[in-house]
Amino acid sequence: MNSELLYEGKAKQIYATEDPEIVIVHYKDDASAYNGIKRAQITNKGVLNNKISSIIYSQLADAGIKTHFIQRLDDRNQLCRKVDVIPIEFIVRNYAAGSMAARLGIEEGTKLPTTIFECCYKNEELDDPIINEHHAVALGLSTYEEMAEVHKIVERINELLIPLFAKLDVILVDFKTEFGRLEDGTLVLSDELSPDTCRLWDVETQDSLDKDRFRRDLGRVGEAYQEILNRLMKL
Ligand code: UDP
Repeated sequence: MNSELLYEGKAKQIYATEDPEIVIVHYKDDASAYNGIKRAQITNKGVLNNKISSIIYSQLADAGIKTHFIQRLDDRNQLCRKVDVIPIEFIVRNYAAGSMAARLGIEEGTKLPTTIFECCYKNEELDDPIINEHHAVALGLSTYEEMAEVHKIVERINELLIPLFAKLDVILVDFKTEFGRLEDGTLVLSDELSPDTCRLWDVETQDSLDKDRFRRDLGRVGEAYQEILNRLMKL
């Protein structure tokens, strides 16, 4: 790529374009878990996540969710609006799994009687600690108004994604979102929605079709991501 590299994260690179308000998001094959302790390359993961996330973002945009996504350019690249990223992960849980199941002693796979929303402060040195809106405001990361707005949008995204995945015979166990602000302050969904950021279980077999296959050394990681893309393409 000839453009200027603006930022490199664990799974993506961000490049400048001629328009200062638009960037290219490049999806890599690098996988990492447990705050970067476990790392590997998963062949073609970037291509699969780029396609999966593009389809999901387009569906959300059609349903009225404002996102940073403009269009998919090719196998690994998307055109997106440049955002000022809020350093908070907004997690939604429909079933107990992962860190929350462990922390609260709830058996993994238990359907939660109410949707659980969590926020984590994106700070690697601190291991992305859980925070609430008061911490977010006190740390100067956001305002009470903005946190309330994000909460409403994330709830709506969950309401849209549960039936979307159900059509694919997939249970949306939990997922992580990030938000950013455009130049004019508009709040938009940013980052990606893919098997890297969602727990997706096959309805029939309860098999993980997501990054837990990598985290837990379950094997067939790429195959699981490909399966999600195949099912999405039948929509
Ligand atoms: N998640 C993510 N990035 C993170 C942490 C979590 O995309 O840095 C996603 C994860 O894939 C899962 C959901 O957020 O779908 C909840 O993850 P959890 O807090 O259970 O953490 P984990 O078990 O991944 O440590």
